[in-house]
Amino acid sequence: MTTKNTSRRAFITDAAKTTAAVALSTTVIPSLANMVNEKKETGIPFKQRPLLYGYHDLEVAIDGMTMEIHYTKHAAAYAKNLNETLVAEKVDINTVSLENLLGEISKYSAKMRNNGGGHYNHELFWESLTPKSTLKPDGKLLGQIEKYFGSFDAFKAKFADTAKTRFGSGWAWLVLDNNKKLIIGSTPNQDNPLMDISELKGTPLLGLDVWEHAYYLKYQNKRPDYITAFWSVVNWDVVAKRFEEG
Ligand code: MN
Repeated sequence: MTTKNTSRRAFITDAAKTTAAVALSTTVIPSLANMVNEKKETGIPFKQRPLLYGYHDLEVAIDGMTMEIHYTKHAAAYAKNLNETLVAEKVDINTVSLENLLGEISKYSAKMRNNGGGHYNHELFWESLTPKSTLKPDGKLLGQIEKYFGSFDAFKAKFADTAKTRFGSGWAWLVLDNNKKLIIGSTPNQDNPLMDISELKGTPLLGLDVWEHAYYLKYQNKRPDYITAFWSVVNWDVVAKRFEEG
């Protein structure tokens, strides 16, 4: 475990120093849980990790200005507000993990719920995207998707329908539930399946942000077109890794 974390931390440091192109070639995916290790060095519990691609690299699906505003303004605010809320609510930042915090989010304020979820969800979202998508998973994950949804196309149709019909702002998810079955569902606002207050529960494998801030500049009211384009930039290697670890 120590070795694993050390290599992941080294990866994060390297990723920050190298170009996006170099970082893309690696299959090492830093765990969200690893963020907890950085706080002892910085005093800041949760920080945004650098993107492993440029703002304009996903333009087949998401325009560069949307990516830049989304990452540097919206997502940055969730991280900042989460850190401030942890201090305000006297959470011990030396022991807290984001997953555990979300798992007992009912004990905290609405501000903690919105910003803890917001930070987790966006970090998961960024690492689920790539300009070099394989367009579908392979191996065991593909087999499980076919088992639970009939086919990969049927899975995509169900996920897209869930994303389209999430009323207002929220997220669509592919989740490994607590019985190790794959399920699709959605959550409102910045809730997610790790939260004890969520109806949809389990390990999030893939999440799609369907807040208007994620797509409105390019797609305006056409959320279905954004969802269709999303499939062209999904990083299935990352999703498969989460599935294997889940
Ligand atoms: Mn967002």
